[in-house]
Amino acid sequence: MQVFQHYIDGAFESGSCQSGSLDPATGAAWALIPMAKAADVQRAVAAADRAFRLGEWPRLTASARGKLLLKLADLVEAEAQTLAEIETRDTGKIIRETRAQIAYVAEYYRYYAGLADKIEGAHLPIDKPDMEVWLRREPVGVVAAIVPWNSQLFLSAVKLGPALAAGCTVVLKASEDAPAPLLHFARLVQAAGFPAGVVNILTGGPATGQALCAHPKVAHIAFTGGPETARHIVRASAENLSRTSLELGGKSPFIVFDDADLDSAVNAQVAGIFAASGQSCVAGSRLLVQASIKQDFLARLGARAQSVKMGAPDRMDTEIGPLCTDRQRGRILDLIARSTAMGARLVAGGEVPEGPGYYFPPTILDCTAAPDAPCLREEFFGPVLSVQTFTDEAEALHLANDTAYGLASGVFTNSLTRAHRMIRGIRAGIVWVNTYRAVSPLAPFGGHGLSGHGREGGLAAALDYTTVKTVWLRTSDAPIPDPFIMR
Ligand code: NAD
Repeated sequence: MQVFQHYIDGAFESGSCQSGSLDPATGAAWALIPMAKAADVQRAVAAADRAFRLGEWPRLTASARGKLLLKLADLVEAEAQTLAEIETRDTGKIIRETRAQIAYVAEYYRYYAGLADKIEGAHLPIDKPDMEVWLRREPVGVVAAIVPWNSQLFLSAVKLGPALAAGCTVVLKASEDAPAPLLHFARLVQAAGFPAGVVNILTGGPATGQALCAHPKVAHIAFTGGPETARHIVRASAENLSRTSLELGGKSPFIVFDDADLDSAVNAQVAGIFAASGQSCVAGSRLLVQASIKQDFLARLGARAQSVKMGAPDRMDTEIGPLCTDRQRGRILDLIARSTAMGARLVAGGEVPEGPGYYFPPTILDCTAAPDAPCLREEFFGPVLSVQTFTDEAEALHLANDTAYGLASGVFTNSLTRAHRMIRGIRAGIVWVNTYRAVSPLAPFGGHGLSGHGREGGLAAALDYTTVKTVWLRTSDAPIPDPFIMR
């Protein structure tokens, strides 16, 4: 078994207890991982707090921080194959995707490397002749970053990149379900030359996360995960009034009009719901298709779904690997059962294949006769598509917005004017038109409602890790006038 360690205060350690990490393709333990207790969390936060206030890190210029991030980006790129293999082994995500995603993770670090010395303050043309007033953008402090098991290297890059560019220090908690990629990534952080305590990486379950969020020295909690966990996190943050940014799940509409290029729409829908076995927060899990093309579209989609190659995630020809955990598969089966009991009709998939591993096939549920089925409201986080039909634009918009979530959306149409009307009307953090699941370090990413708040990616994300200090400097040598009047 491979052995992984925590990275705290610049040193690797085995933690106070250990557990086996399971390979989702076989269900067998393949790696030994540490599990942080409250005392480990305390030490990690103390190290991050020390590094934030004392030593080398607060004295580094922004350009020097950028250079460290650039080095990290190069190391991620050089180590991409190993990182991809570890992520595939630990999460079941197919190797084709982990490879491509990790190569792109390096671009996120590069983007924030370049941004580090562009986070500027401002000078105010103040309305008092004897004053100079300016604003300093300062790092907010220690950041607690908490990520789920899917796309851990990516979801931590969108937190570490901007936080480090801004000058913060970080305690990153990897998911207990598949922490190996981030624990390995810690080696690259060390090799890049970040001072001890600037980045600390550990893992553990809810109690570890809770201890981290409740710590009085944590200034900002950057969380990606489910809405129920987010509620615990916000409650924990209330004690110290620490900031939060929450990237949660979705029930994103994928809308296909009868004038769309159907071949493209089918491919995008396959990418939107079956890629990564549907374990994607932006999964286009609600297909809204215009009634006049429903049969044609579902026939093409069903054929493509049935031809998807499910298999070992480390094979280059595999298109869909196993789910990350058996628990996740249990949740999906339960949600399908509750939905079919309310009238949703299984059109494809739905059955657990025989054999080892946590596999689940591409599945389609027709909900035309079941508008209240839970599969239209609750996130599967699996390869399950719920289908509804609409007759006109107004109904499409009504159904698209009939959700407590608001993360992503897709619109397929060849009408430019309709596309603009839909872009305006959809309530979601992302609208993709005639494409789906595209990302870039330059583009903000986040949602509304149960999908959370705050944005990752882009300049705004780096500013989120800063606080403004207003400086007043009196330029007059004359004595201060009447001290009882506010000036
Ligand atoms: P989860 O909410 O169960 O766990 C996420 C992380 O929170 C894990 O590291 C877990 O250990 C930690 N955690 C659990 N309880 C905690 C507590 N009480 N206090 C602090 N931390 C705690 O999510 P999951 O099942 O691992 O991941 C799936 C969810 O993540 C889905 O809802 C998915 O949509 C969401 N997600 C969102 C995005 C996005 O960017 N919006 C991206 C990927 C995944």
